[in-house]
Amino acid sequence: MTVRRYYADSYTDTFTAQVVESFRAGERPAARLDETYFYPTSGGQPHDTGTLAGSRVLDVTVRETDGELVHLLDAPVAPGAVECRIDWPRRFDHMQQHTGQHVLSQAFLRVAGASTIGFHLGDETVSIDLGVPDARVVERGDAEVRAWFPAAEEIPSLALRKTPDVDGALRVVAIGDFDLSACGGTHVAATGEIGLISVLRTERMKRGVRVEFLCGGRARADYARKHALVRDLVASLTCSPAELPDSVTRLQASLQEARRELAAFRERELDAEAARLLLSPASDSTEGFPGMAILGHLRLVSAAWTGRAVEEVKGLALRLTTQPGVIALLGIAGARAQVLFARSEDVTVDLRPAFDATLARLGGGRGGGSRMLQGAAGPADLARLEGALGEARALLRGVPA
Ligand SMILES: [Zn+2]
Repeated sequence: MTVRRYYADSYTDTFTAQVVESFRAGERPAARLDETYFYPTSGGQPHDTGTLAGSRVLDVTVRETDGELVHLLDAPVAPGAVECRIDWPRRFDHMQQHTGQHVLSQAFLRVAGASTIGFHLGDETVSIDLGVPDARVVERGDAEVRAWFPAAEEIPSLALRKTPDVDGALRVVAIGDFDLSACGGTHVAATGEIGLISVLRTERMKRGVRVEFLCGGRARADYARKHALVRDLVASLTCSPAELPDSVTRLQASLQEARRELAAFRERELDAEAARLLLSPASDSTEGFPGMAILGHLRLVSAAWTGRAVEEVKGLALRLTTQPGVIALLGIAGARAQVLFARSEDVTVDLRPAFDATLARLGGGRGGGSRMLQGAAGPADLARLEGALGEARALLRGVPA
């Protein structure tokens, strides 16, 4: 069996070992060593990475068939002595998060009687799942961390936080006299090395509460990121950090006020635009575009725009047709041109034939409505759209009012 050196020493990151088996595990070259400091994925702690004789260690796993520890590589290594290096920043980060988890788990047990039922150590977030709700921020002590394989007669006297579910030798990790638990992972030598333990948030789960936390370097980096964020916000809002919530509330209120004013202004603007369209040109010219043509006792308003919002044009059509005796032929040019025909309540002319003809001329699909007909056409620029609307106007002029 490979001797797992990390049990006794979690600080060695460079060592020489013998490759005793070089093989392929599925797609990957793999190697087994006589002894290793590489930690395999287990107990919620991810595997180490690094190199074996220059080959990158992509994964470290425990072989199901015989429990042997296997290094998965990007290139094969020959049997014999090899130089091995562990990616130390990654490993130490895992040691900080993992040991911090021991401390937090014990603290939650003491403060809230909540036992840890899950542990997740991801690239970004770290969390533990607690069996009961009501998680609070907890404090930590400062103590030596010790790991050992107790003799059989010592085991009954150990007050372990969690009953171990391991077969084979039991390994115990003590954090001063604060916490005692069964664990095969890598740990820092004293709680001072965990650094800051920062509880970020809690989230209710089906079976209890998930506590997201960060330790050591990760907690410091998180603090630095958030500090930079606050510094930038404070500079852009010219206030103190404490004034940020009020400042943002005021900004939101003034944005809302501005939106209300803008909406009211747009309404007034549409009223004025409708009035202008109904007045100009006050002749029965068929050429005026945009503009109004007289047809018996009806006023025929036609207008087209490029890239205007459909809702706005609809609002305009509504305003035009609140006046008696108005027919509005409106359109929006673009990749998917829009056609909108509307009539006042007192107008009995059927707009459908002219509307369908216009849509067909513009390569359009379908449209619907009764007093207001709306439909999408194919691509049309302003000139083409105005041409089609002009045709519709001519068609309507042939219809007795
Ligand atoms: Zn552990």
